[in-house]
Parts: sequence; C-alpha cells; structure tokens
Amino acid sequence: MQNTTLILLAAGSATRFGLPTKKQWLYQGDKPLWLWVAESFTQEFDFVKIVIVGASSEIDYMKNFSSKYFFVSGGNSRQESLSNALKEVDSEWVLVNDVARCCIDKDMIERIFKNKEQADVVVPALKVVDTVYLDSNPVNRDAIKLIQTPQLSRSSMLKRALESNYEFTDESSAIQAIGGRVVFVDGSPNAHKLTTPQDISKIPCLKPPSNRSFTGFGIDTHAFEDNKPMYLCGVEIGVDYGFKAHSDGDVAIHALIDALLGAVGLGDIGKHFPDNDNRYKGIDSKELLKSILKMINGVGFEIWHIDMTIVAQKPRLKEYKEIMRESLSNIMNLGKAHINIKATTSEKLGFIGRKEGVTVHCVATVGYFDYRRVV
Ligand code: MG
Repeated sequence: MQNTTLILLAAGSATRFGLPTKKQWLYQGDKPLWLWVAESFTQEFDFVKIVIVGASSEIDYMKNFSSKYFFVSGGNSRQESLSNALKEVDSEWVLVNDVARCCIDKDMIERIFKNKEQADVVVPALKVVDTVYLDSNPVNRDAIKLIQTPQLSRSSMLKRALESNYEFTDESSAIQAIGGRVVFVDGSPNAHKLTTPQDISKIPCLKPPSNRSFTGFGIDTHAFEDNKPMYLCGVEIGVDYGFKAHSDGDVAIHALIDALLGAVGLGDIGKHFPDNDNRYKGIDSKELLKSILKMINGVGFEIWHIDMTIVAQKPRLKEYKEIMRESLSNIMNLGKAHINIKATTSEKLGFIGRKEGVTVHCVATVGYFDYRRVV
C-alpha cells in the first residue's frame, strides 16, 4: 500500500463514554488503545505514512509513546480533526479509521482495498436484519446500510469534499455530496464502535490493562510570609502567617501534584500552571490538584497510593495530620488507607530550622485504570 496513508482519529473528548478515562486511553496491556490500534494496523498492512490525530492538550504527551507516527492536533469536531490530518497526506489514497473501531478485521480491509479502482470512496456497510420503521411507516430494510469505518478515499476528492462548511458524519457522505462514486463492501461485526462502557463487552479484541505500577516523586519549598492564611493539603492552619507564592501557596499540594505528574510522565507543575500566568494568581491549589487528577485519569491512570513528608520547624502540625489526610482523601476520592502524611522538623538545621519556610516531599504510586471493574 505504497500509495495509502492511514489516519487514525483519536482526539475525541469521549463525553458519551462517561468514564474518567477517555476511551482512546484505555490501556491494552501496556499500550493505550490508540497506540495499540495503530500497531494492529501496521502489523497487517503497510502504509506510506500514519497520521494520528489527538486532542491538542495531549499531543505532546502522545509523541512520547512512538516516533514512528505523525501526530496532528484535533479540532472541535471529527471533520475539523480530519481536515487537520489531511494536510499531512500526499498519497493518492487515504484510509480513515476512528480509534473507537478498535478491532482490525483484516478480511474486511482487504475487501476495501480490492474494490477501490471504480471508487472515489470505499465504504464497509452492514445489512439491517431487524424490521425498520421511518416514523410510523415500515421501510424496505434491504435498502438500508449501516456505515462503518475505516473508509478508503481518494485523497484529492476527500480534501475537496471537506472544503464545504457542512458537517458530515463520515467521509462517504462528504464525497457523495460532491458527486463522487461510493462503493460499498460488506462490513464486519468486529468493527463495532466503542461508544459507551456497555460496548466494552461487545468488542472481542479488547485486552485488560497490565497491573504494572508507576512511582513519581515531588518536592516543593515555600518561604513564610506574614499576615496571610496558611494552607496545607487544602486545610487552613491556625497561624497568622502563610506562604509566599503566586498561588495560595499550598506547598503540600504542589509537591503532591509533582509526584502525580512524575508517575505518569506528564512533566511538572510549572509546565501546567506557569507562575507568570495571571489565571493562577492566588488560586486555590485544591483546584489545581483537581485539574491534574482529571488529566491523569483522562489518559488512563488511577491513583493507588500517596506518601508525604512535611518538613517544618514551625508551625506544629501534629493536630492537623488527620484533617489533612481527610482533605486529600475527599479531593482525590482515594481511601485514607492509601494516603499517608508525616510531619517532621529539620532539627533546627538550615532554612527550615531557622523557621524561614517549609519543604514537602511526596511519593505517588499509580496504575492503569481497569475498565473491567465498571462493565
Ligand atoms: Mg509551589
């Protein structure tokens, strides 16, 4: 297939999926679904280029997984995402697959390629076996086709078809709208689309995630500043001084965020919330933590365990440790048995000993989100 590019659409926000993890990030063994699908294609077929469309917020992260593919940021709709990807296509043909159609049916794809000569787009379609009504009138079900992906299009036709402002739901309807030739081939029940969690059990090729765990470490230091509230783990501490900071200065949550980001390979807190960005001036660090948790869950991970040590000569934190633990447990939806908070002093040594500020160390352990628990 020296004249064909594969486009894999994996930019969806997956709101209908309704789980904390986006469907393109459900781990199959040790690979996210989008990578696993891309590799399934390349094991069976040879493409001149493979273009993977991801959410713009995730595209840099996706690039860490493989250097074999071209990564393109998605748009606000499937069509916009596809148009962005087509800019990278210079082959005669382009095969477009939604990552949600994750089982590769080799025979079906071979049927598609065999029928391309007379076509501008080749489309797999399923017949309807149930009786079909349109409003209150039965219709001839033999005339009904259920359209699947992948579809194989002449690249130049597809590019021209998508210049329209009309929002098409697939390539064939766009090409048909400009008078292109649509050729249908038999689809496959294996190409069932993953839309809701209930679909998981209907998709035979899905594999469970591996049970590997990943560990991240975070450390943060803040100096004291008089006459402002002090927050640690989202809990207000009863002293008349707080921390010098661009945000609310919750040094414990900052160390925790860095530990979490470290565990999943997502950089550091400064990358996500730059301290020269006015949006984060004075911000409640609990909100930063919630946003990081959403991101980490979204790309396929769940938090398994947190261990934190707060190094402070002052204030005394003994009476707050349990409240801080409860606070983190509530924000993170993680049982207290898996959140450990320790407080110690620096034996009067160094800047901590001179009571100039506080340092927090944190370790986080994460694993892959196991979708089998929810289906
Ligand atoms: Mg900080």
